Amino acid sequence: MDHFFSRDIVDLIGSDKAQLFKDELGIHTYEDLLKHYPFRYEDRGNQSTIAALTPTTPGVQLCGYIKKLQSIEKGKKRLVALFEDDTGQLELVWFHNFAWVIKKIKANVRYRVWGKPVFLAQGQKQLIHPELYPLYGHQTQKSQLIPVYHSTEKLKRNQLDAKGIAFVQKKVLSQLKTTVEETLPEYVLRRYELSPLREVFQNIHFPGDETLLKQAQRRLKFEELFYIQLKLLKARQVRVERQNGKVFNNVSLLNTFYHNHLPFHLTADQKKTIKEIYRDLGSGKQMNRLLQGDVGSGKTIVAFLAMLVVIASNAQVAIMAPTEILAKQHFERFLLFAQPLHLNITLLTGSTKRKEREHILYRLKVGILNIIVGTHALLSDDVSFNELGFFIIDEQHRFGVAQRAGLLTKNQVYAPHILIMTATPIPRTLAMTFYGDLDLSTIYELPSGRQPIKTQHYYENFRLKVFQFIREQILLGRQVYIVYPLIEASAALDYSDLMAGYASIVRAFPGMPVGIVHGKMDGASKDIEMKRFEKNETRILVTTTVIEVGVNIPNATVMVIESAERFGLSQLHQLRGRVGRSSAQSYCILMTDYRLNKTGKERIETMVRTNNGFEIAELDLKLRGPGDLMGLQQSGALNLKIADLAKDAAILEAARRLAKDIMQQDPEFQHPANLPIYREYARLLAAAGGWNRIG
Ligand code: ADP
Ligand code: MG
Repeated sequence: MDHFFSRDIVDLIGSDKAQLFKDELGIHTYEDLLKHYPFRYEDRGNQSTIAALTPTTPGVQLCGYIKKLQSIEKGKKRLVALFEDDTGQLELVWFHNFAWVIKKIKANVRYRVWGKPVFLAQGQKQLIHPELYPLYGHQTQKSQLIPVYHSTEKLKRNQLDAKGIAFVQKKVLSQLKTTVEETLPEYVLRRYELSPLREVFQNIHFPGDETLLKQAQRRLKFEELFYIQLKLLKARQVRVERQNGKVFNNVSLLNTFYHNHLPFHLTADQKKTIKEIYRDLGSGKQMNRLLQGDVGSGKTIVAFLAMLVVIASNAQVAIMAPTEILAKQHFERFLLFAQPLHLNITLLTGSTKRKEREHILYRLKVGILNIIVGTHALLSDDVSFNELGFFIIDEQHRFGVAQRAGLLTKNQVYAPHILIMTATPIPRTLAMTFYGDLDLSTIYELPSGRQPIKTQHYYENFRLKVFQFIREQILLGRQVYIVYPLIEASAALDYSDLMAGYASIVRAFPGMPVGIVHGKMDGASKDIEMKRFEKNETRILVTTTVIEVGVNIPNATVMVIESAERFGLSQLHQLRGRVGRSSAQSYCILMTDYRLNKTGKERIETMVRTNNGFEIAELDLKLRGPGDLMGLQQSGALNLKIADLAKDAAILEAARRLAKDIMQQDPEFQHPANLPIYREYARLLAAAGGWNRIG
């Protein structure tokens, strides 16, 4: 298919340059080229004067006359021109291309020059290798936005600097005008006030003015996000159609538990979420749901109530946690819930002894076990079920599509329902993009009666007072976490910090039982330490971020975070979530270095200001960007060319709404008005581009 977008750039610029583009920037087709958008624009409209220049002036445009031209041999050989406007003088300097410059410069002609001013020690000003344009007559310069493109050293050496790339863009644009097919339907352009495609490529590369640029950006962002959403929704539709799920709708156990054993009243959000899951379980389609709720929002009981619906029909449930600590804790909590109902539940982790493991596998296989809690050990091949009906994944929102597919092999007859739970609040735009194929339930409200955690920030000089505060809290019967950073890049150093920290705590609190847990300890020792802390035998637990996920020790009410500036915002919030788990007042104390950079400061201030995980996640997205936040920096899972998930929430919402409408009304894009979508969707599917990497 000779689609304009799919044409090879060889046609346009010849094989040598095409090869360079391919090697250096991965640009193969006209589309790749057109979507190599400028990363910024220089405004050449704003003319300045020599007198107004300061050392911080960025690129600047000046108009004036060249008074003198001399070639200087001393030192580095160079050509220097004296340039003058009404306000002063400066030097224009060239280190090569002398013949070209000499030919170009004429006396008594007014020139427009463009460059970045350099200030020498003696206060002289220079422009090095300025761009130079003669001005004839009384020509005045109107505002002009010049595109600046990412290039590479190698491209630059081959005349493909920003200017060279702009030249190539002009070439492709001149052909585009007559050939390109619109990729969005007329009615969509009208409804969302989007500019037509043939205009926007012109305006994104060579905008006539700010307004046209903004319009072009909006259209291209909309289009990019729209087709991603369409693809995600389409994937979801295909999955729903193909994957029949077993119908679970027996509420007998659920009712028994609910009326006789529920330890507290559910919040409205918990009830809403259970209803959503219950509806899925009974729908006849396989459930794929993400349940997000801030730490302490009470996801565990929601999961348990849902499990009862499946168990009532004699199917089995598996719950997988990311760490042994967490798996054990889940096991113990589910055990308490399960006992009055006489359910059989067990724990399987990497450190389960062989004999016991064999026994577990046997009971699982014949169907004696109703519930199995574990770590990734649950995924090994020899773990097979009598009838796995429901798989719950806790605290692993990065558990991807491929891994989920692996779970399906655990039941040969039908696809088990899947629920993924996460306490990492995911900003809406990310949830829509990364989990667009999942159904989403959110618990926003915390159970009532909780007091918000008090968060304070102190520098080192306050340490004695912090210790005094810890002492007081322990006298009140409470327990304290002290968390040290352990960052992979500086692990050895961090580890010795942790040990030194531990020693200093032991010294500062003579006679006080202090525990320590970190990643280098083996499972058994970690377990012993956790148990001691849980039983209140140790009053202070010195630890690293192994404590981050899910751990629930309600009597621990003080969280001290050392070198807090080194943690990410979401991580700080996760750590803080280890306290505030009972009705007692809890505290989070952030200790930092005196020197805080701007984002460090912002993170700490945010933590002190708010307890709202969703607000924190939104800010973290702005500070760090989506790739970092989702741990997807390397995988390139989301290769957005122009849209920005941190900034374009409104556009994304609109694009998703449209994609949803279309999937509902015309899922195969058969309506004549949707022809452009039909064509573009097929093209994107066929193109082996970045678009296909999603999902
Ligand atoms: P998370 O969502 O972080 O997994 P948990 O399920 O561990 O939260 O719940 C945190 C704590 O709140 C637990 O001690 C749990 O028993 C308690 N809890 C959960 N729901 C409620 C509720 N509706 N009312 C009171 N306490 C609750
Ligand atoms: Mg939890």
